[in-house]
Amino acid sequence: MTLAKVGVLALQGDFAEHLAVLRRLNVEATEVRLPGQLEGLDGLIIPGGESTTIARLMDVYSIREALQRRVKEGMAVWGTCAGMILLARRLVEDRPEPLGLMDLEVRRNAYGRQVDSFEADIPIKPLGESPFHCIFIRAPKIVNVGGGVQVLGSLAEGGVVAAQQGKLLATAFHPELTDDTRFHKYFLDLVAAPQA
Ligand code: GLN
Repeated sequence: MTLAKVGVLALQGDFAEHLAVLRRLNVEATEVRLPGQLEGLDGLIIPGGESTTIARLMDVYSIREALQRRVKEGMAVWGTCAGMILLARRLVEDRPEPLGLMDLEVRRNAYGRQVDSFEADIPIKPLGESPFHCIFIRAPKIVNVGGGVQVLGSLAEGGVVAAQQGKLLATAFHPELTDDTRFHKYFLDLVAAPQA
């Protein structure tokens, strides 16, 4: 398949599930914890988990600035759930401090306690006709989308759940918890695409 080098940020959360999907697609992705491990990568997935914990560990491992620099150099990044929170430009809450890479404003744990977790079949534009089975777990909500951001999918009742800005991809849900590999393939195509 692709010769591109892909990593998964493995500080906390469900990075193992992402690695397993990538392995099914014959991509040997690396676990990334230290800034030096970002060098030479064409793409990085930031998994779901607890965004405050991941942010704290990013600072413990001093990886924040290297990650921001590698994105400026053209590295693709996909954030799922907590990963999406970290990609945002701005959060409704004070914590954690996001990376500010995508022009999104995000509210954490935005669906209230009763619907802490829910699933929905949602059409995602670049993935073709058949809707994607989206699993939301204490999911964040995109409350504002900047001009350069492309909306890839929304809930039937409104609310953006998947977005793209150049080589940056954000999903409020967890494709790595399904058997559907279309989203991971889409990210790998993005990783391999020439620089925008
Ligand atoms: N609620 C978590 C947070 O705020 C995100 C949940 C998830 O990644 N499934 O970080």
